[in-house]
Amino acid sequence: MDSSFEIKIVFDDKCPKPGFLPGFGFSALVYNYFTDTFTLFDTGGNGNILINNINEFNVDITAIKNVIISHNHHDHAGGLETIFQINPNIKIYVPIDNLNSFSKIFPNKQVHGVSDMIEIEKNLIISGQVNGSFISEQSVFLKTKNNEIIILVGCAHPGLEKFIMKAQNLTGIRAVIGGFHGFKNLSYLQDIDFIGACHCSKYDKLIRERFPRQYKRTCLGDNYIF
Ligand SMILES: [Zn+2]
Ligand SMILES: [Zn+2]
Repeated sequence: MDSSFEIKIVFDDKCPKPGFLPGFGFSALVYNYFTDTFTLFDTGGNGNILINNINEFNVDITAIKNVIISHNHHDHAGGLETIFQINPNIKIYVPIDNLNSFSKIFPNKQVHGVSDMIEIEKNLIISGQVNGSFISEQSVFLKTKNNEIIILVGCAHPGLEKFIMKAQNLTGIRAVIGGFHGFKNLSYLQDIDFIGACHCSKYDKLIRERFPRQYKRTCLGDNYIF
């Protein structure tokens, strides 16, 4: 078995597979083959929709070990309270700037404010907080057995290129999946094999035209194995 990670798209409004409920926001469920654990990246904008979609993959919500919130916008953090009600042992990782607001809602000992890059379990790395003019944000870097990085991004408000540059300091990038927002510096994508622009990506048509081989139409209910 050569797999390193599975990435299941559990919240978005793009091209839903049968049984999955679309909604505005983003969430991806990650299965880590190195540790045999599940981690949720973002929670979409609606807890009931999120639960329906996780159930479609037959994953037990109480078995999810960690949840990483990219930034404190409702379409990414809106489903967290519902997840927490079902799985009160889940560890919550938020950007350090958002620590106070999340600590008011969830038990202190379970909410971790992240400032610098940190590997929370084998080959599952939180980028550390990246600042921007609008809002701070963090992303996830998954390191595969081939020593390549898969980047998961929420909205990339500070600029997707900042996350790409951070990951490049570690090793080569295989894939980037999530919301690219207004990202337009397309040359940063040229060496990336798998470009999964979804959610809020404004220029996904432009990206598809420029990189037809690498562009991957990312749909709600998709499961990618790396
Ligand atoms: Zn946002
Ligand atoms: Zn968003």
